[in-house]
Amino acid sequence: MPELPEVETTRLGIAPHLAGRTISGVTLRAAKLRLPLAAELPRQLSGQQIKAVARRGKYLLFACADGTLLLHLGMTGHLRLIPTGTPPGRHDHVELHLDNGTMLRLTDPRKFGTLLWLTADPLQHPLLARLGPEPLSPAFSADYLYQRSRRRTVAIKIFIMNSTIVVGVGNIYANEALFRARINPAQPAGSLTPEQAGRLATAVKKVLDEAIARGGTTLRDYVDAAGNPGYFRLELQAYGRGGEPCSVCGTALQLSRLGGRSTCWCPVCQS
Ligand SMILES: [Zn+2]
Repeated sequence: MPELPEVETTRLGIAPHLAGRTISGVTLRAAKLRLPLAAELPRQLSGQQIKAVARRGKYLLFACADGTLLLHLGMTGHLRLIPTGTPPGRHDHVELHLDNGTMLRLTDPRKFGTLLWLTADPLQHPLLARLGPEPLSPAFSADYLYQRSRRRTVAIKIFIMNSTIVVGVGNIYANEALFRARINPAQPAGSLTPEQAGRLATAVKKVLDEAIARGGTTLRDYVDAAGNPGYFRLELQAYGRGGEPCSVCGTALQLSRLGGRSTCWCPVCQS
């Protein structure tokens, strides 16, 4: 599933090619993704100049003259910028044609993506209005994490995966950040010390930053007709390594489920 680093990598890859371009037409080949695709989209978008491509959480926001196109890639969506007329495959559901002979194609085998045209402030839309701060912004700090977690009995791993607390910390990155911060994933959020909150905020930022930096090496895939989405894997130290030795102390990593999600941790380093 595209996580925040993959979405940010996508944004970095496509933004320079889209900013300033005008949408000359839209092709819809599906009636719905997760939500119905508005039949008016081609009329609404045609002629719109794309001013910038921004991101909020895992949503991409294409800021146009008269509104904002909001896109979420869902479970399996990805974008490619390719020459107009490239024959579609069966999972190629949406194309934005640009005024320079290229098109932005959305491929989404499971159709769990979201595509909406908004004319009001997109940040006030119900999908975005309740989102917590961006993890890479100064607003997500040790002090913020400490204050927000007071009196919360939920496990810290579940807490940091809650998008109203902080956006974009999916299961893989939550496992990795807790490993690096040496915090047990099941520790009640409210029992975090200020020092632990500091370590965890730093670890979340570092893990996401590294993932985005790695994605940077595959940027060309986003403008290559033959290219795959170019998603990447961080060198994972915790996630998916249950039973394998801890990279720090050599103890076998434990594997359990927390909040229904696979959780790996070192019983020594994260005790
Ligand atoms: Zn260990």
